[in-house]
Amino acid sequence: KNGLMAGKRGLIMGLANDKSIAWGIAKALASQGAELAFSYQGEALKKRVAPLAAQLGSDLVLPCDVSEGASIDALFESLQQEWGKIDFLVHAIGFSDKEQLRGKYADTTRDNFLMTMDISVYSFTAVARRAAAMMPDGGSMLTLTYYGAERVMPHYNVMGVAKAALEASVRYLAEDFGKDGIRVNAISAGPIKTLAASGIGDFRYIMKWNELNSPLRRNVTQEDVGNSSLYLLSHLGAGVTGETHHVDAGYHVVGMKAVDAPDI
Ligand code: NAD
Repeated sequence: KNGLMAGKRGLIMGLANDKSIAWGIAKALASQGAELAFSYQGEALKKRVAPLAAQLGSDLVLPCDVSEGASIDALFESLQQEWGKIDFLVHAIGFSDKEQLRGKYADTTRDNFLMTMDISVYSFTAVARRAAAMMPDGGSMLTLTYYGAERVMPHYNVMGVAKAALEASVRYLAEDFGKDGIRVNAISAGPIKTLAASGIGDFRYIMKWNELNSPLRRNVTQEDVGNSSLYLLSHLGAGVTGETHHVDAGYHVVGMKAVDAPDI
């Protein structure tokens, strides 16, 4: 195989369907010669994920619920047996009770706070540790975050708090694994219509606002995120670690609604 990722193998976590950000990343990696394994959450998703994996020439499709340590261990044991080592990891997983992705952050319950932090933050640390143990020649890890970590966005609530912790984890993991030649980065993606995003209150309004007010005056696509992930996951990003890279049509640099942007 030819391409930027030729000869490289990696695990993609968080593919649910062909709208998933993980799918955009997987397609970009495969187009550049990467060999992919996929993990899916629960039997119901297997029948969606396996055919997608097959489209990219992969039949390594393994179950993993990141809320259970034993399930993560089982995933990495299987991967260890199949491949022995990997070169990259993509973590595109997040979850919160959608009843709390609307209304006030102040109303977040303790149970949902802990569950959101567990699945959306700790899971990256938990898989990063196991993935690093399979990267004797160095490697690159990537997670997905959102601007709601840095600024208050409507309805993002506890997920924004979780993403802030995720971005901090990226920096600490970058230090932990840097001496082993392993890089850890995040892509902060603009809003994209996916299953997870549909749980966020007024998501259509948020997308429209971003489209009208970002410097590029459009929303980003799965393909945009996939293409940027190639830079961070390939040797092109060899000098980059601990970074949160915005793929958001520039939205995060804007301080005020543009004068020529229409009202919505
Ligand atoms: P998605 O619904 O396609 O993907 C979310 C994935 O998380 C699913 O595959 C789901 O199975 C998985 N997941 C949830 N709980 C899990 C568990 N306990 N164990 C294993 N897997 C679990 O939605 P997406 O938008 O592609 O989300 C991927 C990532 O991108 C998330 O971290 C999300 O916060 C982030 N993100 C999304 C947007 C957006 O607008 N869509 C923007 C920025 C960041």
